[in-house]
Amino acid sequence: MAVDSTISSPLGPPACEKDAKALRFIEEMTRNADSVQERVLAEILSRNAETEYLKRFKLDGATDRETFKKRIPIITYDDVQPEIQRIANGDRSPILSAHPISEFLTSSGTSAGERKLMPTIKEELDRRQLLYSLLMPVMNLYVPGLDKGKGLYFLFVKSETKTPGGLLARPVLTSYYKSEHFKTRPYDPYNVYTSPNEAILCPDSFQSMYTQMLCGLIERNQVLRLGAVFASGLLRAIRFLQLNWVELAHDIRTGTLNSKITDPKIKAHMENIIKPDPELSSFVIQKCNKENWEGIITRIWPNTKYLDVIVTGAMAQYIPTLNYYSGGLPLSCTMYASSECYFGLNLNPMCKPSEVSYTIMPNMAYFEFLPHNSGSTRSTRLVDLADVEVGKEYELVITTYAGLNRYRVGDILRVTGFHNSAPQFHFVRRKNVLLSIDSDKTDESELQKAVENASKLLVEFNTSVVEYTSYADTKTIPGHYVIYWELLSKDSCNSPSQEVLNRCCLEMEESLNSVYRQCRVADHSIGPLEIRVVKNGTFEELMDYAISRGASINQYKVPRCVNFTPITELLDSRVVSVHYSQHLPQWTPERRR
Ligand code: AMP
Repeated sequence: MAVDSTISSPLGPPACEKDAKALRFIEEMTRNADSVQERVLAEILSRNAETEYLKRFKLDGATDRETFKKRIPIITYDDVQPEIQRIANGDRSPILSAHPISEFLTSSGTSAGERKLMPTIKEELDRRQLLYSLLMPVMNLYVPGLDKGKGLYFLFVKSETKTPGGLLARPVLTSYYKSEHFKTRPYDPYNVYTSPNEAILCPDSFQSMYTQMLCGLIERNQVLRLGAVFASGLLRAIRFLQLNWVELAHDIRTGTLNSKITDPKIKAHMENIIKPDPELSSFVIQKCNKENWEGIITRIWPNTKYLDVIVTGAMAQYIPTLNYYSGGLPLSCTMYASSECYFGLNLNPMCKPSEVSYTIMPNMAYFEFLPHNSGSTRSTRLVDLADVEVGKEYELVITTYAGLNRYRVGDILRVTGFHNSAPQFHFVRRKNVLLSIDSDKTDESELQKAVENASKLLVEFNTSVVEYTSYADTKTIPGHYVIYWELLSKDSCNSPSQEVLNRCCLEMEESLNSVYRQCRVADHSIGPLEIRVVKNGTFEELMDYAISRGASINQYKVPRCVNFTPITELLDSRVVSVHYSQHLPQWTPERRR
C-alpha cells in the first residue's frame, strides 16, 4: 500500500499508516532522549517517593538526577534480595514500588543457584507491548511484502510457580504470551503467525513444538520469515524436525493428529486445520529423507526472506549452523530485552550479525552507564544515556518503574553511534558467563563448585582432579558442556571406573544452577554433560602453548573455558577417555532455596 508522503519518516517511507505512527514515536523518543530520560526518572521517583526503599536513602521526594545520583547506591541483585524475598513472602507494603507487584519474572540470571526474581507491575506489560509494536514497522522499511504471508515462530511457555506469598513467578515471555495483550492481539496483516495460540500456550514442550511445526509445514508456502527468540531455539526446532518428520508426514498424509498430542485445546483447534494432503506429505518426506540437510529451511519454506532470531552475545556461536541450514539467509536481531526491563530495538535489522546495534528506547526506564573497567564503582560517575561516548564500553545500570533503583544488569555494551540523540549499542557480553548453550549462564565459581562436588566421588579411588577447563560444544544439537579433566591417580590398581566417571558427569550437572537443569530436563535444550579425561601433562602443554604465544609465565592462569580452535584441538588430541551423564539431573519448577 502506498502511503501519503506527508507521513514519511526519516527512517524511511512507512509501509502503512500504523507504521508511520510507530516510526514517528521512535523519532520523537530518540530526538529527545535526554529530556525523555529526565521525565522518566522524575515520574519513577515521584510515584515511588513513599516506598520504603527510597525513603531509606532519604530522597525526601526529590526527583532530580543530581540528588538521585548522590543518595541512591548502585546495587546488584544480592543487595536488594532481602526486599525481594519479603515481597515474595507476602509483604504487600510499598517496599520497592508504589504500584503493587503483580508477579515476579524469573530471570535466566541466577543467584545462589536459583533464578533471580524480578519484581514487575501491571503497566510494564504495556511498555513491553509498546516496544514489540515498533519492531514490524522498522522491519517493513527493509523487507517489503511481509503482509502477504506469515511468520513461522517457535514460541513457548515455561512452567510457573507461586512464591510463598502467592505471587506468580515465571519467565517474562511466559507472562507475555499468557497475557491478554498477546492472546487477544488485534489482527495485523504484517504480523500473522502460523503457530496457533493453543500450541504456543501448551505447557508440554513436545506437544507445543509438534503442533507448531505441523502448522508451519501445512502453511509452508505462506511462510515469509522463520524465527524463535534465540538462535538455539530455532536450531532445536530443526533438530525436532529431523527426529519427527516421519510422524509429521504421516499426519499430513492422513489428516489425523499424532496420538501423542493430547492437549484438548490443541486437538480442538487442529481439527479445523489438518486435512489429508498426500502431495505435501510426499514433499516433506522427499526433503527430509536425506543425509544432507544443508539449506533445509529454504528447501521446505522457499519464500523465507530472513530468520528472526537473536544471534548477538552468547548466541553468536550458532551463526555458522544457522547459515548451514538456511543456505545463508539474512539473520535479523530485532530487540534487546531482559526480565528486569525491555531495553530497545535494532533500527537496521537486516544488517550483518556482527554489526548489530540496539537503540535503547529512553521511555522504557531510566538508564545509566557505568564505564567498564573503571575500577571502583564508588568513585566512578555513571554516565547518562545521552552522554555516552562512541567507542567506549559500559555496564548497563537501570532504574525501573517496578522499583529497581540503579540496578546493575551485568551486560557490557559498546557505543557504536547515535540515532538522533539516542545512542546505539553493540552487545559485547554478559559479565561472568563462562558457559552458555541456551538461556543457561554458568559462571566460573559455579563450574568450580561443580568440579569440586563431582571430584568427591573420586576420593575413594585416591584420585583427584588436578586441572580442568571447559568448552560449550554446539556442534551437536542440542549443544552440551564438555569438561576436560586431568586426573592424578595415586593408586593405579584402583582407578575410577567408567561408571564412576559417568556419575561424576551427573554430579556436576546436579551442582549446576536451576536454569541449566531446567534446560536439560524440561526443555531438552542442553545435551548430557561430557567429561573428557586428558593425559597427564596436558595442562602443562597448554601453558607452554600460551607462553609460546606471549603469555607471561608468572601471570599464567589455566583458562576455565576454551574456545580457541588450536587449544581445543590440542586438548582433544590428548583425550584418554570420554564420559557422559547417563541420567537427567533433578529439576522441578519449585525453587530449592
Ligand atoms: P533474562 O533476564 O533471562 O530475560 O535475560 C536477559 C539477558 O539476555 C540480557 O541481560 C542479556 O544478557 C541477554 N540478551 C537479551 N537480549 C539480547 C540480545 N538481543 N543480544 C544479546 N544478548 C541479549
